[in-house]
Amino acid sequence: MSEREFSPEDVARARADTPGCATVTHFNNAGAALMPRQVIEATTRHLHLEAQTGGYEAADRAAASIEAVYDSAARLLGCDRDEIALVDNATRAWDMAFYGIPFRPGDRVLTSMAEYGSNFIAYLQVAERYGVQVDVVPNDEHGQISVDALRAAVDERVRVISITHVPTNGGLVNPAAEVGKIAREAGALYLLDACQSVGQLDVDVREIGCDLLSTTGRKYLRGPRGTGLLYVRREVLDRLVPPVLDLHAATWTARDRYEMRPDARRFETWEANYAAVLGLGAAIDHALGWGLGRIQRRVTALAEQLRGRLAEIPGVRVRDLGVRLCGITTFTVHGAEADRVKSSLAEQGINVSVSRTASTRLDMDDRGLGEVIRASVHYYNTEEEVTELVRAVRALA
Ligand SMILES: *Cc1c(COP(=O)(O)O)cnc(C)c1O
Repeated sequence: MSEREFSPEDVARARADTPGCATVTHFNNAGAALMPRQVIEATTRHLHLEAQTGGYEAADRAAASIEAVYDSAARLLGCDRDEIALVDNATRAWDMAFYGIPFRPGDRVLTSMAEYGSNFIAYLQVAERYGVQVDVVPNDEHGQISVDALRAAVDERVRVISITHVPTNGGLVNPAAEVGKIAREAGALYLLDACQSVGQLDVDVREIGCDLLSTTGRKYLRGPRGTGLLYVRREVLDRLVPPVLDLHAATWTARDRYEMRPDARRFETWEANYAAVLGLGAAIDHALGWGLGRIQRRVTALAEQLRGRLAEIPGVRVRDLGVRLCGITTFTVHGAEADRVKSSLAEQGINVSVSRTASTRLDMDDRGLGEVIRASVHYYNTEEEVTELVRAVRALA
């Protein structure tokens, strides 16, 4: 990856390539980032091709470009192309992995305080269905998953360690690689929800040591909505049973037999939105073009700046936890409802979002929080935009 930092000219170029930068001040990159022109073009080009030649015929013509998306995704995550499945969103990616684990009664699932709501609902469902025990590993004094507590919690009944890398409601980065070492020693599967980290941090599956990783296209990767991807480490492929199969995931080889594909695509379905898939590929290539190390440094520094300046405003409390922080900043404004802050900022052309209890209940309840305002920066945001946001929040506080 490039060691060069973002220069003012680079930021100007990134903004010039992002039509949305001309119309909004976008601090909702953890919700859906603004797509660059390259993504919009790749997507619409294929839609036009479908309109002109037919959907199947367009897919045939674009076959090499579609295949190249797997190479791009593999390069992004540091794995091989046959370890990638392209799916509709991060939730489906995660579901295909998690519900593919052949649970037995008495198995344990270990998770963290920062866990995402959809994942936890799935834990509750398999707990009901299979008699699986779900244990939440406490945080350490910094608010990240306690590596010591995790090590102490592990035993031979732990079937999977399933945690969130970066939560939806804050700047925390969980120590994913330390968790990976413990999972490997314990022989437990390791499923990482990297939905908020891929695209803003330099995420490498081999470095982290996860077996399974899910992420989405529309957030920090800047891809189209309705895209997601799943990494399945080759060595664990046959330890999972895909919860659903179709004639793409498997082949109907005889009247009473089928054979699953030998790669991670056994977690896909035949039908796909190829315009969106190609858009995702363009988004990944775009991120790789800048360099993920470079993106990580800029996003982290800009968020640090925002956090520091928000913290100086009387009545504003920054709510981010952790040792290592990323591009997401959450805060509360004393005496002002989060929705009112959000809508008031929206009237000024500034996008933020609100994160509520049900998205990350363990953490929010633990801290007595009902809602937080989330401002998530990307590399195309500027110091001037940070100032604009800080000024607008100050006026509301
Ligand atoms: C957004 C999010 C998801 C879900 O991603 P989708 O693409 O909407 O399915 C999962 N986990 C975390 C931590 C998220 O922030």
